[in-house]
Amino acid sequence: MSGSLAGVRALVTGGSRGIGRAIAMALADDGARVAFGYHGSREEAEATRDELWTRDAAAAAIEADVSREDECKALVTGAIDVLGGLDVVVNNAGILHEQPLLDTEVADFDRVIGVNLRGTFLVGRESIRWMVEQGGGGRIINIASDLAYLGRARNTAYCASKAGIGAMTRTWALEFAPDILVNAVGPGPVDTDMLGADVMSDEQRAQESDIPLRRIGRPDEIAAVAAFLAGPKATFITGQTFGVNGGSVMY
Ligand code: NAP
Repeated sequence: MSGSLAGVRALVTGGSRGIGRAIAMALADDGARVAFGYHGSREEAEATRDELWTRDAAAAAIEADVSREDECKALVTGAIDVLGGLDVVVNNAGILHEQPLLDTEVADFDRVIGVNLRGTFLVGRESIRWMVEQGGGGRIINIASDLAYLGRARNTAYCASKAGIGAMTRTWALEFAPDILVNAVGPGPVDTDMLGADVMSDEQRAQESDIPLRRIGRPDEIAAVAAFLAGPKATFITGQTFGVNGGSVMY
């Protein structure tokens, strides 16, 4: 494939649906070869893989629970085997569990932190380990959230996990400069299963979130920024979190 990411080997977690699927498509459309992870949605994962093949992209789907260390190691190793190496990793897999603080059990807290924060840590660590061993560079792109800054009632674990991802992004950017560039994208509300699009109208959701651009985002609008950060023009950027949020947070 030609394109600005021709020859780039990319792993995207949570590629079966939503934003991760859009990121896998955007990277492939720019010429990257893509392996993506999924957990429960085998049918959606196969549909994503088939769509990537339709677009003439080399693509593979790998099942892994990112909250588990052994499965993250297998995911990264599997991606390296399939792609012949790894240049770009997008830590996108995540879950949201709305719950009042006073009803939140330790197990609930740990589940959200386990997928969002530990998953990013594990896949990031294993990917960076391989990149360092190769003596080359790489790009890590972590998907955070505007809620890391705004906070949101009934979302203690989610907001904490996303703030942690921002801090981890800056830490890795410092630790692995100048070879590996590490950035994050902080979406505002985006039309995916996570937002329960069937429950609220766009208008209600935009109103609720008080978004200056008066609508929620589309997955491809997040993916475009991730693809830019993976690409040849993003060479002087590291440790940043990019708000792609319709103005919900202004940095
Ligand atoms: P989504 O449509 O619910 O998709 C979530 C993805 O994460 C799926 O591919 C899912 O895979 C994967 N996943 C969930 N648990 C996993 C686990 N234990 N191991 C591996 N993969 C797992 O969500 P989304 O809206 O696209 O969200 C993607 C990212 O953007 C998340 O990090 C989310 O926090 C962030 N974000 C979303 C919004 C929004 O409004 N949508 C806003 C800000 C940030 P399976 O389906 O195969 O299990």
